[in-house]
Amino acid sequence: MNVILMGPPGAGKGTQSELIKKEYSIPHISTGDMFREAVSNGTELGNEAKKYMDEGNLVPDEITIGIVKERLSQPDCQKGFMLDGFPRTKIQAEALDEALKDMNVNIQSVINFSVPKEILLERLPARVTCKDCKSVFNKKFNPSSSGNKCEKCGEELIERDDDKGETVNKRLEVYLEQTNPVLDYYEKQGILYNLDGNRSTEEVFADIQNILGSSK
Ligand code: AMP
Repeated sequence: MNVILMGPPGAGKGTQSELIKKEYSIPHISTGDMFREAVSNGTELGNEAKKYMDEGNLVPDEITIGIVKERLSQPDCQKGFMLDGFPRTKIQAEALDEALKDMNVNIQSVINFSVPKEILLERLPARVTCKDCKSVFNKKFNPSSSGNKCEKCGEELIERDDDKGETVNKRLEVYLEQTNPVLDYYEKQGILYNLDGNRSTEEVFADIQNILGSSK
């Protein structure tokens, strides 16, 4: 099963991807997580990506496409994969289709979460992520039962710098301008599913299970 999760920052892709990964046993490929890891490891890729991330801009297509192709060539992707935060431009979507053609696989479903901007602006500054297992919580709407620690693994929960201030507005603007057109691309292929992401985690996940079918 090969799936793409789409939606603006804060729409719930990270939260739902944890549930999908558990239910369907497919690797979760988040370009945002890959870039953040490279930044924290201080690699050349990380230093380059940081310049764009700090501003709320997209990392250039050629860099992003390169890391995704490399990741998809790993053996664990042969049984399927879930892309989260990629593709974010039409050029990335076309490059992905080319790469998948070479691998002889295709995408079954593109699931798009819609959430009103005013809700995203409330969600993002309150979002915290586990330093270790990357579980996502929200101090306002979905707090960890262990306070400032992750309720799953006990590690520290951290806020993202790009979830604050002007960067949030910039990221939402970039999403509308550059990523929204990608939805049309998949709509035309007949594989786009639009979900209302402004509901409980359980309700949204139930819809996802209806789309993806049984894992058994
Ligand atoms: P995310 O965690 O998906 O919100 O991504 C955090 C940041 O990483 C974004 O604001 C971009 O700067 C960068 N990024 C993640 N995915 C992509 C992508 N597909 N194309 C370009 N930049 C990306």
